[in-house]
Amino acid sequence: RYSDLEIHGLEMSAHHPSGEIPVLHDITLNIPSAQVTAIVGESGSGKTMSMRGISGLLPGGGNFTVRGDVLYNGRHLAPGTNGADSETSPKFAMIFQDPKKVLNPGLRVGQHLTEVLRYASGFTGRDSRLQRIERAQEILGRVDLPTDRRFFRSFPHELSGGMQQRLVIACVVAGENDVLIADEAITALDSRTAARILDLFHDIAGNMGKTVVYISHDLKTVERIASHVAVLYAGYTVEYRNSRDFFSMPRHPYSRMLMESHPALRDRGRPLRIIPGEAVSPADPPPGCPFHPRCPRAQQTCREVLPQLIPDTGGAVRCHFPYPEKGNGEKDSTRKN
Ligand code: SF4
Repeated sequence: RYSDLEIHGLEMSAHHPSGEIPVLHDITLNIPSAQVTAIVGESGSGKTMSMRGISGLLPGGGNFTVRGDVLYNGRHLAPGTNGADSETSPKFAMIFQDPKKVLNPGLRVGQHLTEVLRYASGFTGRDSRLQRIERAQEILGRVDLPTDRRFFRSFPHELSGGMQQRLVIACVVAGENDVLIADEAITALDSRTAARILDLFHDIAGNMGKTVVYISHDLKTVERIASHVAVLYAGYTVEYRNSRDFFSMPRHPYSRMLMESHPALRDRGRPLRIIPGEAVSPADPPPGCPFHPRCPRAQQTCREVLPQLIPDTGGAVRCHFPYPEKGNGEKDSTRKN
């Protein structure tokens, strides 16, 4: 199948008076169009920075060096252009945990959308005001928000957290962005509201044809909506594969431990596992495999040689001794469905 967004060997470093500080070492993954791809890993693994790196939505104006190959529809684009060259570059938008930081408290719901439409959708002519209002109402309906005049004239503080997040998503849809990056976007919501937002991401990918990247530390929600999963550790992609294969048999020890440490995902009857030790910073990884200080399968090779990301059936894994163990075949599954 054709991949819309391909990332190969993405590296990033931050400029600092003391020198270059590594942020990402080797992020490699495919992000198919019209589907949801999840990026998981602990804090500091590079989930957010990898997406900021390719989109150009860098913090502090971008005091970073970004290297690597990023292809969109098979064409190379310079990481960080974010729609600057409309021929080759997609438009990226990020959705964060707190919608209040994005919404303008002085603008009404309708104004948020009509302002985005004014700049993004070409409704700028003299007769365009009505077109913008009609389109704004249509988009509100798509994201399951009321379309009546009263709601249109509401201010953000009059909405619930879930409605505020839907309004942010509506603005992203109005902005005709190609790639929507949801960064822990449901973390602050109650479970029912979060489930509805997840359904909305699914709808945006499947029915509106957008590419959705779902950044999360919660594998249970990932299992619910993602078609593909990438696991990052210390600035490296350590595993990438389609969701069904990933959840039936993760190949990387870290992926497996993440799953076994989730109360809703571990095999029934198995004790909940705690991943020992601290996550390693991309700025100061140990020699060899960055996961070796925490890995129960580590051997001498792991302490000396950095494993490469090796393609396998349905994905890729960066490990000298991935699952299934030799001779154990495909029966070695973390979860028995
Ligand atoms: Fe564990 Fe070695 Fe694989 Fe690293 S390379 S994850 S230390 S088995």
